[in-house]
Amino acid sequence: MKQHLLEICYLIGSVTFIFGLKMMGNAKTARNGNLIGAVGMTIAILGTIFLHTGEVAPMIYAMIFGAIAVGTIIGWMTAKKVQMTAMPQLVSIFNGMGGACAALISLIEFTHHMHSGEPATTGTLIAIIAGLVIGSVSFSGSMIAFLKLNGNMNKPVRLPAYNMINNVFMLFVLLFGAYMVYSGGSLMLAYALFASALLYGILFTLPIGGADMPVVISLLNSFTGLAAAFGGFLYGNKVMLTGGILVGSAGTLLTLIMCKAMNRPLSNVIFGAFGAGSAAAEGNEVKGTTKEASVSDVAVLMNYSKSVVIVPGYGLAVAQAQHVIHELEMLLESRGVSVKYAIHPVAGRMPGHMNVLLAEANVSYDKLVEMDDINPEFSNTDVVLIVGANDVVNPAAKTNPASPIYGMPILEAENAKNIIINKRSMSAGYAGIDNELFYNPKTSMFFGDAKKALTELVAELKTMD
Ligand code: NDP
Repeated sequence: MKQHLLEICYLIGSVTFIFGLKMMGNAKTARNGNLIGAVGMTIAILGTIFLHTGEVAPMIYAMIFGAIAVGTIIGWMTAKKVQMTAMPQLVSIFNGMGGACAALISLIEFTHHMHSGEPATTGTLIAIIAGLVIGSVSFSGSMIAFLKLNGNMNKPVRLPAYNMINNVFMLFVLLFGAYMVYSGGSLMLAYALFASALLYGILFTLPIGGADMPVVISLLNSFTGLAAAFGGFLYGNKVMLTGGILVGSAGTLLTLIMCKAMNRPLSNVIFGAFGAGSAAAEGNEVKGTTKEASVSDVAVLMNYSKSVVIVPGYGLAVAQAQHVIHELEMLLESRGVSVKYAIHPVAGRMPGHMNVLLAEANVSYDKLVEMDDINPEFSNTDVVLIVGANDVVNPAAKTNPASPIYGMPILEAENAKNIIINKRSMSAGYAGIDNELFYNPKTSMFFGDAKKALTELVAELKTMD
């Protein structure tokens, strides 16, 4: 009876994961999707604890619930106070914990088989060793990714011939794992494999530039999914298997989507040197003069235009200017100006970053227009207002083969009749390169922190009834 109930719990868990994930594909339903997935996970966890068929000592229950309480409090508090711009770091920590879990499960199961004197079957050993290796790589790699994204480790560390060292080391770890499966291994060897896989995770992530970390996290996320799926095999646990496969495939898809949005193959992200600090390479410097606009210049221009396209970027998120930009949009709309937002797939620091940020400020979804749909509209746009965005509007991606972002699809803001760029200075963006758009004769720089500058702009517009 208990077993049947447990199967039903797992079925509910699996179905809610699938529905939840589907709902997360749309900003309107994403919150509920997340919630549905969490409810399914809770049912699966409680089912596993209470419908377990073996004898469980009260002390074990106390430990399980103690751990759940500590994890819930830490997770809740961290997620509550994290800034939207620090979301990639949070994802990487959470992902690392998943990897560590999978690796520890494998270690414990391996120890269990060693002590029980009952040799594990080849299938079980494959699941244990694969979970151990992949989970460990995912854990240590995610920790390095966290440090890089958090700004604690700014420079990519490259040993000489790092690509070769890394590949040889990867081969060594794989062969070591295969040997463990073949020979049955020993406890000491299992710990040595654990340490080697942890070291490989570090070596794999260290040389990759900070700018490519979101892709790496997504890749490591798919590793964690795979490691969890091996755990599912190990225990014959269907919900763990489904969850692992879903995380693995979603992570892989996201990795590919990000690479496509930047028009770079995954191999270039892993083995290339983008975002290495050397990105501002020669040939990318732009010379020319810029024009500055005051708040009243910008207000007049916008007030008398028919169509405005807003390009939000990372700076908008840092400044937390999403609410004031919505206020600006409503004010302009109330005066008969058509306002749209142009969304680049990697604007900000993660795909979907701008959609979530603007949704938080209640910007209507139909105002958000994807890159491919908005690009043909720029030539009929009176004013494009670029707020805290830089690389995603850099024409060098189309015109300068020497540029590190050459080939990345961009928002063609340069085609608009007037271009206003709000940022604090002439500093470069994520890619560390100059932007020729700043020197375009149609461009006016509107300097200042996005929130402050836009608040002043709204106030100025209000005086212009
Ligand atoms: P960028 O990082 O190119 O530019 C952001 C700009 O915002 C900066 O130039 C900065 O200029 C400005 N800024 C910072 N703070 C503020 C503030 N408080 N007020 C106003 N402006 C501010 O951002 P984009 O969104 O244009 O581009 C995203 C970049 O991230 C791309 O290079 C993309 O490829 C990369 N990316 C990479 C991913 C990957 O997986 N590798 C994933 C997602 C994005 P200033 O300092 O002068 O104010």
